[in-house]
Amino acid sequence: MKDVDFCVIGGGFAGTTAALRLKQAGHSVTMLEARDRLGGRTFTETRPDGSWIDRGGAWVGPGQDRIQALMREYGVPAYKQYTGGEAMMLVDGKEYRYSGTIPWSMSPWVAMNLGAALLDLGHLCKTIPLDAPWTAEQAERWDRLTLEHWLNTHVVSKAAHELLEAALAGAYTSAGSEVSLLFALYQMASGGGPAFMLGVEDGAQDSRPVGGMGAVYRPMAAELGDAVLLSRPVHRIEQDVGGVTVHAVDHIVRARRAIVAVPLAIASQIHYEPMLPVDRSFLHQRMPSGAIIKTSVVYDEPFWRTAGLSGQSAAPGSPATITIDACTDTGRPGILCVITEGPVARRIGAFDTADRRHTILGELAERFGERARTPEDYIEQDWSTERYSGGGMLSHAPTGVLTQFGHALRPPCGRIHWAGTESSAVMCGWVDGAVRSGERAAHEVREYEMAGAAGPARS
Ligand SMILES: Cc1cc2nc3c(=O)[nH]c(=O)nc-3n(C[C@H](O)[C@H](O)[C@H](O)COP(=O)(O)OP(=O)(O)OC[C@H]3O[C@@H](n4cnc5c(N)ncnc54)[C@H](O)[C@@H]3O)c2cc1C
Repeated sequence: MKDVDFCVIGGGFAGTTAALRLKQAGHSVTMLEARDRLGGRTFTETRPDGSWIDRGGAWVGPGQDRIQALMREYGVPAYKQYTGGEAMMLVDGKEYRYSGTIPWSMSPWVAMNLGAALLDLGHLCKTIPLDAPWTAEQAERWDRLTLEHWLNTHVVSKAAHELLEAALAGAYTSAGSEVSLLFALYQMASGGGPAFMLGVEDGAQDSRPVGGMGAVYRPMAAELGDAVLLSRPVHRIEQDVGGVTVHAVDHIVRARRAIVAVPLAIASQIHYEPMLPVDRSFLHQRMPSGAIIKTSVVYDEPFWRTAGLSGQSAAPGSPATITIDACTDTGRPGILCVITEGPVARRIGAFDTADRRHTILGELAERFGERARTPEDYIEQDWSTERYSGGGMLSHAPTGVLTQFGHALRPPCGRIHWAGTESSAVMCGWVDGAVRSGERAAHEVREYEMAGAAGPARS
């Protein structure tokens, strides 16, 4: 049995940041990670030619100050997302090309509907207290409604409705009928509103770290050294008045406190002894993740750029729901990222690999020309089948959850503290939120230790 000050469970950005900040503050720490790699819902793979792809989280934007601080700490520069050329919308079998954020080329009616809905949502977001969205004036009402209900009652144009449902519910990789309106407003508000969430330039897709997210989490892991133990899924955490005993496969850690930094959707896979307070335990049962497949399609060059296209396209309901240029900072090779979200991701996830590839490449060929059918490499990542993620991109709240159980998102349960992007009031759901939650939890365990707070608590 290893004896340390603090034990961190989960080596995504939240856990790795928490462990790093504790080690930097002079504490002994062990971080137990279930997989044989760090990064969690980020996963950078280096290709034989030295280029890299991000199989999970990739983009950063303005206001995401804590991930950017880590990038500076490790000397990782950012590069801007390619935005040259035209983007595409494909709705009801028609293709519309446009520049900027709003696809005016569709029809003034559709564009007006889109613009007005985004403005309305932006106003609603401003009324949400980020630290406690369940206390918003309209919280009870909005938490009874789904995102789909709001779209049905506020967006008259069918095309605008489809596009918004794909864009907004897509963020939760679920159907709009599965997501509470209050949760959607809160999550968007935590990033500054829908314009940030959907935006490329100055939005959440503004830039990427050179070398991918791995260029940030790998040096963090190197600094942590032997504090990191891989392939150690934790299955049981016991707490008593003196500390916690964390049981992982082939390893037991005794510590003063534990930080659990695993996605909410799978946090109930760990057996907590004594049982967690009811509201926390029920929260674990009520925050599912959706389905998402991220495919990186590699060509010798970004041929769409020379054809005057940005690589960005959106086609609601299509197996290639969203595409975006995902080249590295050198622009070679050409990499197109294809995102398949929600119900359609579950549907094509059941195809065999060859059929799925054929389907996706067919969609790309229709949008970008026949050359898209013959890539050099094709790398797919189905997050729905990842045991230690439970889906992606983030755990969301269905109706009624935030108002009843949201208060249990952050407070520690005795000697067990909580991190993870879902627990961040700012940039909830993004890598930046994960980093913030890790820093908050590291600060919290030290404060509680200094205050001599005991556990286990059952409040
Ligand atoms: C396809 C995709 C695209 C995305 N795109 C973006 C983007 O462009 N920009 C952005 O900011 N965000 C993006 N995100 C979201 C972002 O990746 C996440 O918000 C962030 O990585 C979450 O970090 P985390 O540390 O909270 O959780 P995770 O990264 O999920 O880390 C949790 C860790 O806990 C481990 N674990 C689980 N169970 C156990 C156990 N029992 N014992 C020990 N360890 C365990 C897991 O293996 C994992 O390493 C994307 C996500 C996905 C899936």
